[in-house]
Amino acid sequence: MKPAPFHYHAPRTIADALAALARHGGDAKVLAGGQSLVPVMAFRLARPGHLVDINGIGELDYVRVEGDQLRIGACARHAAFHAPVEPGPLGRLLATVVESIAHLPIRTRGTFCGSLAHADASSEWCATAATLDAEIVLESERGRRVVKAADYFKGFLMTDRADDELVVEARLPLLAADTRFGFEEFSRRAGDYALGLCVAVVRHAGGTVAEARIGVGGAEPFPRRIPEAEAAILGKTLDKDLCRTAAEAAAGAVDPMSDTQAEPEYRRDLVRAMVRRALERCIA
Ligand SMILES: Cc1cc2nc3c(=O)[nH]c(=O)nc-3n(C[C@H](O)[C@H](O)[C@H](O)COP(=O)(O)OP(=O)(O)OC[C@H]3O[C@@H](n4cnc5c(N)ncnc54)[C@H](O)[C@@H]3O)c2cc1C
Repeated sequence: MKPAPFHYHAPRTIADALAALARHGGDAKVLAGGQSLVPVMAFRLARPGHLVDINGIGELDYVRVEGDQLRIGACARHAAFHAPVEPGPLGRLLATVVESIAHLPIRTRGTFCGSLAHADASSEWCATAATLDAEIVLESERGRRVVKAADYFKGFLMTDRADDELVVEARLPLLAADTRFGFEEFSRRAGDYALGLCVAVVRHAGGTVAEARIGVGGAEPFPRRIPEAEAAILGKTLDKDLCRTAAEAAAGAVDPMSDTQAEPEYRRDLVRAMVRRALERCIA
């Protein structure tokens, strides 16, 4: 099918994009990489009256380190992360994660911030953002606000973003040089959305776990950190038995979704397996 008719806007500045969003509100959609929006428009599952194409806004196309954060502009493509964007563990984590997002042609168009805006439960970037307590910068003609990932993801494909707000930037904390990480996901075919995934980030001090972040995606309507699993390893020596204990804690803590792809108990089992495998990669 073809999309329903729409008015096309091609702003060259953030201000012009915000003006178009302010004017057309709920009847407007931002067009970033188009890798999620265009298919749903083609199937007429979305029929926005106005498309605000941000691809011509050069000031949104960047990935840069500022202070202790990595800042990712709204037009930065998934493919920008194939080579580490910074020399520390964060750059390597993002380069690992990006390999699991769709296929190369999609990664050359789709954007990091578009993934956060779309907020698919299985999105690798959304799970990474939740695990790292990312900050999402939202801007409208009403002003600019910075929302923590834990407050940003609200439900299945639902976020704290209002219709007139643009995700202008995502901010991730740089990770200390001695940080270890693991990323694991399961999907039926390479490039498919994950049925379950885990991002684990661990720092050891004196042989025990001093900091732990364990985030899970694909199981529940939106990704989140699992405090029960993090508490299970904090202050202890991470070995294979402890990885199994934390994985069990995570499996018990989630309330998995049911849909045509998988039943809840299957997703729970995937959480168990993904958390265990991701944590095993963090063993010092
Ligand atoms: C075959 C296929 C397989 C895929 N597999 C995966 C996968 O495994 N993992 C995965 O995470 N994704 C997957 N995707 C989706 C892909 O990663 C998209 O690129 C991503 O979901 C959205 O990014 P985009 O830039 O393409 O956004 P678009 O498609 O342009 O927009 C998506 C939504 O977000 C809104 N939006 C976009 N940018 C902004 C912004 N800056 N501010 C406000 N709103 C905005 C749009 O209005 C729209 O509602 C797949 C897509 C396809 C076609």
